[in-house]
Amino acid sequence: MPFDPATLSSLTYLATAFAGGFLAALWLSLVFWTYRDIRRRTRDNLLCILATLVSLALFLPGVLIYLVLRPQTTLDQEYQQTLEEEALLQTIEEPAMCPGCGRKVREDWLVCPSCHTRLKKTCHHCGKMMDLAWNLCPFCGTPEPGMRIENMTMDDVTRSMVEEVKEPNRQESQETSTTS
Ligand SMILES: [Zn+2]
Ligand SMILES: [Zn+2]
Repeated sequence: MPFDPATLSSLTYLATAFAGGFLAALWLSLVFWTYRDIRRRTRDNLLCILATLVSLALFLPGVLIYLVLRPQTTLDQEYQQTLEEEALLQTIEEPAMCPGCGRKVREDWLVCPSCHTRLKKTCHHCGKMMDLAWNLCPFCGTPEPGMRIENMTMDDVTRSMVEEVKEPNRQESQETSTTS
């Protein structure tokens, strides 16, 4: 097999070029990864730039340093944690108590069994439980009977009253029209 120094040198050149290209790509992707990672962990722009610069300047050791020093939790995780803590606090803060006798009551009780204090009321339209302080049902939007509805003009009130009066007649006429 003839030994050709020209082929060998071009082969080494190719290999070096390939390795160099690979390293450059790895470097760039590591810098990009660092930038994306620090973005998810802090809103501090200076920290973002610093972390990216460290991985850009020091390559793999820089990324290692970053991995050691980076904030432990991402912003998402922090947000989830605060949500969970708030939920936990609420359950601790609000053990339902009877306002009359101070005994523990269950959320779904209408009346305190010990002192007969009214705890909840039911919606007259859909029958769901409402707090005593609410004047509008959160489930179906029906206001309490006798409640003044905010932002309702006199026209609206008279119109709704007229419609209520008309409604039975209309239904009757529909029934007669369908039966005939
Ligand atoms: Zn009670
Ligand atoms: Zn309702």
